[in-house]
Amino acid sequence: MGFNIFVVGLILGSFANMLIYRLPHGVSLFRPARSVCPQCKATIPWYENIPLVSYIYLKGICSSCDTKISTSYFFVELLSGILAVLLWHKLGSSFEFVLVLLLFELLLILSVIDIYHLAVPDYMLILAVVVAFVLPEFDYIAALSFAGGGFLLELFVTYYIQNIKAKLTKNKQLQTARAMGEGDIPIFAIIGGVLGSTLGLVAITVGAFVALVPSVIATIYGKKPQIPFIPYLVVGLFVVYVGVDIL
Ligand SMILES: [Zn+2]
Repeated sequence: MGFNIFVVGLILGSFANMLIYRLPHGVSLFRPARSVCPQCKATIPWYENIPLVSYIYLKGICSSCDTKISTSYFFVELLSGILAVLLWHKLGSSFEFVLVLLLFELLLILSVIDIYHLAVPDYMLILAVVVAFVLPEFDYIAALSFAGGGFLLELFVTYYIQNIKAKLTKNKQLQTARAMGEGDIPIFAIIGGVLGSTLGLVAITVGAFVALVPSVIATIYGKKPQIPFIPYLVVGLFVVYVGVDIL
């Protein structure tokens, strides 16, 4: 059964990859019906579109034009398979499992789009919030307070970066930089609602610590300080949601 769930996760991951590519580029979800190589537009036959297996078999290059296929296709499928298995271990075969899996697939898609574009489509965020809202044990009070807290945190951090840090470092660029995107506030609400107040705070702390790693690396190499926050918040949410039963 666990292996079947893994395969379901892989197939969902393959579908997630299509959405990750098509949604930000405004490509229709139905045309072309089959996936094409982004470089040479050659249609990808079904046997080259098998999750994980095809990527390894093709050695990560397109069979028509030899362009490198992004490793993110492989990792999204793998992560999707792993998260399906872990959620199934927690929830068993239930309707709640289906809803929670759908929620985390949406959050995975949002995370990867955020990594590539530093922005996410609003309707995907709204969809994730709607799915979270219908979860059986969703804590609406915690969701609202986390959304409010996220909003205040964003105001504070943005003010801090724009005024204090910009003055200290005399960096003009920082004056217009935003600390977080508006997309983070719905994610805060989902974390609060799914985990409740106490575990929600733990999740955000975990996410913030994980986010420190690329921030420090970016600072050392003098790169732009803007990092996507959604992936880190989602990692915090997932680690606490699944980990709370293991500990
Ligand atoms: Zn190609």
